[in-house]
This record gives sequence, C-alpha cells and structure tokens, in this order.
Amino acid sequence: MKAVVVPGKQKGYKIEEVPDPIPGKDEVVIRVNRAALCYRDLLQLQGFYPRMKYPVILGHEVVGTIEQIGENVKGFKEGDKVISLLYAPDGTCHYCQIGEEAYCHSRLGYSEELDGFFAEKAKIKVTSLVKVGTNVPDEGAVLVPCITGMVYRSLRRAKLQKGETVLVTGASGGVGIHAIQVAKALGAKVIGVTTSEEKAAFIRKLADHVIVGSKFSEEAKKISDVNVVIDTVGTPTIDESLKSLWMGGRLIQIGNVDPTQIYQLRLGYIILKDIEVIGHASATKRDAEETLKLTGEGKINPVIAAVVELNEIDKGYEILKDKHKIGKVLVKP
Ligand SMILES: [Zn+2]
Ligand SMILES: [Zn+2]
Repeated sequence: MKAVVVPGKQKGYKIEEVPDPIPGKDEVVIRVNRAALCYRDLLQLQGFYPRMKYPVILGHEVVGTIEQIGENVKGFKEGDKVISLLYAPDGTCHYCQIGEEAYCHSRLGYSEELDGFFAEKAKIKVTSLVKVGTNVPDEGAVLVPCITGMVYRSLRRAKLQKGETVLVTGASGGVGIHAIQVAKALGAKVIGVTTSEEKAAFIRKLADHVIVGSKFSEEAKKISDVNVVIDTVGTPTIDESLKSLWMGGRLIQIGNVDPTQIYQLRLGYIILKDIEVIGHASATKRDAEETLKLTGEGKINPVIAAVVELNEIDKGYEILKDKHKIGKVLVKP
C-alpha cells in the first residue's frame, strides 16, 4: 500500500510503497476513509517527539472502515466505521480501569511508537477504537480524537456550566473554529478572538461575539464576565487570556505550541483571582463517544479547508501553513 513514511529524525517524509498491515490478536486493520493533517506533524518532523520509532508512518487523526479483525477482538466487526484515539492505552492499569485512559502508564502513541494513518490502510489496537454511528459524516468523525473530543474533555475538566462565557483565541484555526462549536453545543456563550478582519465574518456565523486584534481582554470584559478561556495560540496570547478572565475563571491551554517558548506567570495574579490553569491534550473513549453524538446531532459541523490525496501531501502542508485558510486539511487516500 501507499504510505507517508518518516525515515528518521529530522529526515522529512517520503511517499512510498510499504507492506499491507496484518492485525495482531488485539488489533484491527482499517481502510482509511479520511486522515487529517495537524501542526503536531510539523513538530514531529522537526524532531520534538522523542518517542518516535523510525521508520514510522506519519499521521495521528483517522476515521476508517474495519477490514480485518484479530482473533481476540470483541465488540467490533468487519464493516464497522471507527475512529482511533491518538494513543493505545493498555486497558489494564489503574487509570484505564477508572475511565481515565489518557493517563495510562504504558500508553503508546500513533505516529510515535506505533505507525500512524497517512496510508491506504492502518493497524489499530482495540483499546483505541471508538465506533462511529452512520449519522456521523467522515469529516466530522475524523476531527474527534485531536480536536472536538479533545476540546470536549477540556471543557469537562474545566467544569463548564451552561450559560457561562467561553473565549476562544485563534478562533479561525483548525482547533479554534471547532472549539467555538463544542462550547456552544455545551450551552456556553462564546467570544471568538482573531487577528484577521478577513476571517472575522466567518467566525461571526458560529460565535456570539467576535473580537479582532491581539489586545482583546478589555473588550472581552465589556461583553461579559469571561469564565473560561480556550487558548489555542500559546505565548503570544496567554497574557491577554489571563487578563480576560473573571474571578474563578479557568484557562485551558491547548494546541501545538512552540516547545521552546517560555512564559513568566505572575503567581499573585492567579492566586488573587482564583484562576485555574489547565494544560490539556487528549480525549478518552467517553469523550470521543459523547462528541460523536453531538456531531451526529448536527451541533458540531466540520469546517474543512481542503482535502488532498496521499501524493499531494506537500500541497496539504502548504495549505495548513497558509494564514488565509479556515479549518482543517484532510487526507483522502
Ligand atoms: Zn492532531
Ligand atoms: Zn492503562
């Protein structure tokens, strides 16, 4: 089959023929319906992910249809549409037992220790699989593990209440444009922040308010007490994000931030305002299932910038880096 393979650390990627995967006892092989490009891929190619095996197939976001099943796999059959979590939990440790498998002691990552999904077929461990209903389109399902389900879990961790106000930075990005919708689906009032006047019109269709500019805290405070900030940008926005929050506020820091950037936090500020800082990265099966349900109900609609084929992956990354695009770039093998 055709696959996008990373041959070694900081060695780029190649599109090449590799053997078709064969499922082990606790694994399935899927035909990839859609995969998705992510800024994390670029960090991986720069060598920031120390656990990567080489060579490894790139890509960690996928929806597909089961073609082959290992002998110990229960609860899934050929023809089922599934997504994979970003990682494979062992299913046995304390955290797996209590449904917090994101914290599994021996989790393995796809496109890290395990081959990823930029290929015609992919091998997935049963502990990572989540079934997708026929009412959920591929474009909505593929966004769940790394975006919509991840954001859903972050709002669950932030104990978002209906009627609270959520501010989203980087509101036109692949994460931001969907974070707005997840927060709305959970009953929040949403303020989207962007630096681009050009993109504001699109964001206005989804958010209750849009602020254009990099100094947004004063304007945000005039709109409402901000209870939760989903900061998808990082060091350029964290200061304004913290200033936007009313007392008891929660700052959710997500996204593929530059790993070399440092921010100096004034502790008195978060202490006196009772602010909680939540670093956040992944989703569990429960989060994925609940987000798939919201997607199937039409409360979260995928915003897709482009769909490329495997041999157009270069073009895909060009679009990913294009400041004018809105939404996610998908791969259709
Ligand atoms: Zn991702
Ligand atoms: Zn575990």
